[in-house]
Amino acid sequence: MSLPPSCERLTVVVAAYNEAEALPALHPRIVAVLDALASEGVDGGVLYVDDGSRDRTWAVLDDLAAADPRVSLLRLSRNFGKEAALTAGLDQVHDGAAVILDADGQDPPELIPQFVAKWREGYDDVHGTRIEREGETWFKRATAHGFYRLMQRLSKTPIPTDTGDFRLLSPRSLEALRLLRERHRFMKGLFGWVGFHQVSVPYRREARVAGRSKFNAWKLWNFALEGVTSFSTAPLRVATYVGVLTALLAFVYALWVVVKAMLWGDPVAGWPTMMTVILLLGGVQLMALGMIGEYLGRLYEESKQRPLYLVDRWRPAAGVSSGGI
Ligand code: UDP
Ligand code: MG
Repeated sequence: MSLPPSCERLTVVVAAYNEAEALPALHPRIVAVLDALASEGVDGGVLYVDDGSRDRTWAVLDDLAAADPRVSLLRLSRNFGKEAALTAGLDQVHDGAAVILDADGQDPPELIPQFVAKWREGYDDVHGTRIEREGETWFKRATAHGFYRLMQRLSKTPIPTDTGDFRLLSPRSLEALRLLRERHRFMKGLFGWVGFHQVSVPYRREARVAGRSKFNAWKLWNFALEGVTSFSTAPLRVATYVGVLTALLAFVYALWVVVKAMLWGDPVAGWPTMMTVILLLGGVQLMALGMIGEYLGRLYEESKQRPLYLVDRWRPAAGVSSGGI
């Protein structure tokens, strides 16, 4: 399957939050790849999205853009988080495909030509699947491993395992993604929901080139909650089943209490049993309420219909219109 010439545009979208140290190391690698692709007839560019960084990131990006006419810059009004920053970047790409890349060098830009080759074969979503992760603790690897498997079981949306945001999206995938405007953006799930022709390219995930990961254990836990609640209502069903099971047990136990009282009378006793039952039921009820609350809170936030991000500055590359790439 060959593509019409107008589709041969490619924009590398990089979300960056406090990455002043990593970007100067990453940019030359991207440029080298774009140069190589240019000889194959791909018109490439880079769009950096500064997600409200508080360090010198914007100044660094400004220098990169001044030196290279293929670099576009977008700065959000504050730190909105990686998912919103990526959305902001992808929203600007109206012509050709986009590649999503982390700013810290953990996703090797050198893989992009392989992605492009797959795109030319007719795939819409070419994603990098990590076969190894370097420079990350066993705890992060183990929890990530568990999380991907759990998501696969809970959600009806196919979400490839061990796959991050590092991927190439064809124009029609981008178009489809733009239709999904939910505030709680679990990107991996959204990519999976879009569907079309997907293929994975295995790679070794390297350690960060500089700086520190923005995601600590607590953030990752919340991210996992986000994933589960955005793409599955299974926890709500669990609450139902726990309720049904408890009611059944309570019924059997009540029968036993009545029979016991009839056979042997009812001396005042059973304080420990009563406390146990009350506390257990109280706990189960609160847990179920909490689960409902998780969904209700998200519903509340969706209902406000706020924009996903606000743009502070937009500096398009030479030749790119102010309306987007
Ligand atoms: N990032 C972002 N906004 C945030 C946090 C992170 O744009 O609020 C970017 C960050 O600059 C990097 C990417 O998201 O390019 C992945 O972040 P990080 O490397 O900290 O995550 P990890 O690889 O450890 O999961
Ligand atoms: Mg990283």
